[in-house]
Amino acid sequence: MAELEIRNLSRVFGATRAVNDVSISVAHGELLCLLGPSGSGKSTVLRMLGGFERPDSGSILIDGKDVTNLPPERRPTGMVFQSHALWSHMDVFSNVAFGLKLRRLPRQDIRQRTEAALDMVGLAGFGPRRPTKLSGGQQQRVALARSLVLEPKILLLDEPFASLDQHLRERMREEVREIQQRAGITMVFVTHGQDEALALADRIAVMRDGRLEQVDKPDAVYRRP
Ligand code: ADP
Ligand code: ADP
Repeated sequence: MAELEIRNLSRVFGATRAVNDVSISVAHGELLCLLGPSGSGKSTVLRMLGGFERPDSGSILIDGKDVTNLPPERRPTGMVFQSHALWSHMDVFSNVAFGLKLRRLPRQDIRQRTEAALDMVGLAGFGPRRPTKLSGGQQQRVALARSLVLEPKILLLDEPFASLDQHLRERMREEVREIQQRAGITMVFVTHGQDEALALADRIAVMRDGRLEQVDKPDAVYRRP
C-alpha cells in the first residue's frame, strides 16, 4: 500500500486553476520531487498535503487514513519552507525542541531527541548558539532539525535551498538524501530546478499549469524530448 495517496486533488483561486485533478501515489521511504516552472501549482499541492490549504475537491490519504480535512498539527507531516523563520530570541536547542515542549514530553526525552535531530543534520554541539549567528546553510539545517525532531512520516519541503549558493545547495541535497535514506523517511520535495530533481528524486512528478504531466523515474523523465 502506498504511504501517501493523492486522489484527484483540485484547487481554484479566482479564475486560476492552481491545481487541476492531480493524483499521485508515493511509497514509504520514497523521495518524490514535484518539478515545474513557477506558477505550475507545486506549492499549492504541498500546502494541501501539509494541511495549510484546503482542496476544492479530491482527497489525501496517509497510510490509508483520510487526512484531507485534518489541520496541520493532526497530520503526520512536517514542512520545511524556503525561508526558515527561526525564532531569533531563542537558541538553536530551543528552536528545535519547541514542538516537543508543546507536546509536554519529559525533559529527558526532549533533550535526547533534540540532540539526536541536531546530530542528524550535522549540528551536534550547536544547541546554545543563536540562529542569527549561523550561516544560511546552518540556519536551514536548524529548520530541517526542527521538523525531523517531531518524527513525521512524511516530510514536505518547498524549495528549501533556493536561497543558498550553488555549492552549498548541492551539499545540502546530498545531506537530505542521506537523512532520507538513514531515517527511511518519505519526502515530497518541491523544486523548479531540473538538476535538483535529477540529483534527488526516486521519482519526478512534472507539473504544468496545475496539471500533472508525467510521473516517472529521473532517467525516463530526462530522456523525453
Ligand atoms: P508554484 O509552486 O509551482 O510556483 P503555486 O502553487 O504557488 O505554484 O501557484 C499556482 C498558481 O496559483 C499561480 O498562478 C499562483 O499565482 C496561484 N496562487 C497560489 N496561491 C494563491 C493564492 N493564495 N491566491 C491566489 N492565487 C494563488
Ligand atoms: P513560490 O513562487 O515560491 O511558490 P509564491 O510567491 O507563488 O511562492 O507564493 C507565496 C505566497 O503568496 C503563498 O502563500 C501563496 O498562496 C500566495 N500567492 C501566490 N500567488 C498569489 C496570488 N496571485 N494572489 C494572492 N496570493 C498569492
